Amino acid sequence: MRPVNEVVDSLGTTVFTVMSALCVEHDAINLGQGFPDEDGPEDVREAAARAAMEGPNQYPPMMGLPVLRQAIAAHNKRFYGLDVDWRSQVLVTSGATEALTASLLALLQPGDEVVLIEPVYDSYLPIVRLAGAVPRMVRLRPPEWSLPEAELRAAFGPKTKLLVLNSPMNPTGKVFDAAELALIAELARAHDSYVICDEVYEHLVFSGSRHVPLMTLPDMAERTLRIGSAGKTFSLTGWKVGYLTGAAALIGAVAKAHQFITFTTPPSLQAAVAHGLAKDDDYFRGLAAAMERKRDRLVTGLRGAGFRVLPSQGTYFANVDCRPLWNGGGDVDFAMTLVREARVGSIPVSAFYPGEPPTHMLRFCFCKQDAVLDEAIARLRAFSGAIG
Ligand code: PMP
Ligand code: GLN
Repeated sequence: MRPVNEVVDSLGTTVFTVMSALCVEHDAINLGQGFPDEDGPEDVREAAARAAMEGPNQYPPMMGLPVLRQAIAAHNKRFYGLDVDWRSQVLVTSGATEALTASLLALLQPGDEVVLIEPVYDSYLPIVRLAGAVPRMVRLRPPEWSLPEAELRAAFGPKTKLLVLNSPMNPTGKVFDAAELALIAELARAHDSYVICDEVYEHLVFSGSRHVPLMTLPDMAERTLRIGSAGKTFSLTGWKVGYLTGAAALIGAVAKAHQFITFTTPPSLQAAVAHGLAKDDDYFRGLAAAMERKRDRLVTGLRGAGFRVLPSQGTYFANVDCRPLWNGGGDVDFAMTLVREARVGSIPVSAFYPGEPPTHMLRFCFCKQDAVLDEAIARLRAFSGAIG
């Protein structure tokens, strides 16, 4: 038989799927894969049910339901002062994952270079490779996850087609600051590059940090694609409703890729997300405040169990340096030991590095009910007491 595609052939199963399966096998609390254990707002779910019952449930417009595209444009104006034409500058996709894939396939030509920032979310690199493009990796430096300016400058060159920026960032919990955003914008302008901004955690930012879309910086609107996800903004990760905002020419190109990936996204879910995006500011503030309390609960608990916890300014995630507690193998070994012996699931941060990874960090997810976090902490305490 002829071989299958070699990029696809080289892929494993995602670390999130692997760790979630291990949690089931070991009856462990799953603080690995990032999903809330409480479903999002009832009115949003009711809106979906109503739309499904009333119909129509046939193909919606390829770009997305007008009511949702209008809501996305209004959301951009309300939160970031962005003026967006809903007809030509907004595209609805089946999750941010599809938005990322469609954007990369739409913009990249074989041989183009793409700057990716490590630790890197797992779906970016495979698509860059499938498009025949060449990754240029730049590593953030833990524990502060600082962006090394000289290395970023060196990663840009005449072939740099685009950079992918994830802020607030998975897995680090980093929110890129004004100086870092200005540097990225300067380099993108100087090299005539695009930036794909994965902003799925835009509404999960904690006290002391602020999310500023790169798109709002001078002259960046024309070269930036901004991606959001209803999964994260409404705690409904299984819905897979994503959205893209950008210049009309870019959105037009991405729509051409999207029409042959999924074409459309379930209309009932789109209608419900339109309803959700119109919720008042209190909803969005409350979402971040509730998540910040969960972060604090988990971070305090992890410290109490003897972990060294790295800063987390946003997202669902806090990372720990395992070294004070673990001198066995690397982070994969530690994650396996924890799921089996402490019965708590996590994600080894090395999974976010395609090359030679640091192997001393684990990612824990805090978007869980307080009682679940408390039980996980009690198990980790008992485990660290037993080995310490
Ligand atoms: N980007 C990042 C950084 C994520 O963490 C996730 C999901 N967890 C996604 C994209 C995918 O979002 P969606 O579920 O909307 O496809
Ligand atoms: N993005 C989620 C995480 O980082 C998982 C999504 C997935 O399982 N593909 O945990």
